[in-house]
Amino acid sequence: MSVPETRPVGPRTTAYLQPPGGWFLNNAGWICGAEHLVLVDTCATEQRSRRLIEQARSGNRDRGISAVLTHAHGDHANGAGHVELAGGTVRATPAAAEEIRGGPHTHPEIFGEVPWGEISPPELITPVPEPTEMDLGETRIEIHPVPVRAHTGGDLVVHHPADSVLFTGDLLFSGVTPLALHGSIGGWIEALEWVKRFGASTLVPGHGPVTTPAEDVLERQSAYLRWLLAVTTDPEPEHSTLQQRAREHWPEWQDAERHAVNLRRAHAENRGHDFDLADAALAMLSAAGGRIPLDI
Ligand SMILES: [Zn+2]
Repeated sequence: MSVPETRPVGPRTTAYLQPPGGWFLNNAGWICGAEHLVLVDTCATEQRSRRLIEQARSGNRDRGISAVLTHAHGDHANGAGHVELAGGTVRATPAAAEEIRGGPHTHPEIFGEVPWGEISPPELITPVPEPTEMDLGETRIEIHPVPVRAHTGGDLVVHHPADSVLFTGDLLFSGVTPLALHGSIGGWIEALEWVKRFGASTLVPGHGPVTTPAEDVLERQSAYLRWLLAVTTDPEPEHSTLQQRAREHWPEWQDAERHAVNLRRAHAENRGHDFDLADAALAMLSAAGGRIPLDI
């Protein structure tokens, strides 16, 4: 099992990175005020989530704790029940909250049997329908729901202006193929432009290494999303050829089987037809050569 890295990215902000950042190995983090500690996201399994909470609380035990979830996907949200058990409040967009309450979503048809541990959803999730500030004592954070469907229909970002850090959740993937299974390619392109307007010096992506606006991680991803729309205008795109081209154009990204899903999502948007999620998932399994093993 890979070992998470605790990385300070500002006086009060810490990124929690789980290399190599692929399936279910998400990033999280925390911001620590004088009175309150806020986690950004949890992890996929009970064991990983409890370790995250323990790391965040070490040295900060006199502070109240809560969590803000960037979206509903299990790698980011499965551990939210453990924040509640630790006496904390959990926040998410209304759409993500509804999705999380219906979980946990473990997809055994894609990933097989996985030792998740206890990952029941929290009893209560406080919905964040609009931009909101939280006073943590001597510092404040901003929670901004993403105004369009992007990676999912219920994304948010967490901004800590004092440290100039933006936790993007899965709006941004660093070194990992983005996944639009529950998203919108066109909306995601808009959302990346919206992310730039925060002017944050440090971007903590949902997966992979921390980055900055000066590096080309965001631009590479934006170019990929535009490419997806550009190559799927035909009624019957050549999916296998396009998947191969994507692997060649973005060779630094792991989990390349996701191109199969993203191309189908882009095609549905171009042609104005419904996205067949089950068909896309099957195409992804085929590209992966069978069930995707998780080392979590
Ligand atoms: Zn996600």
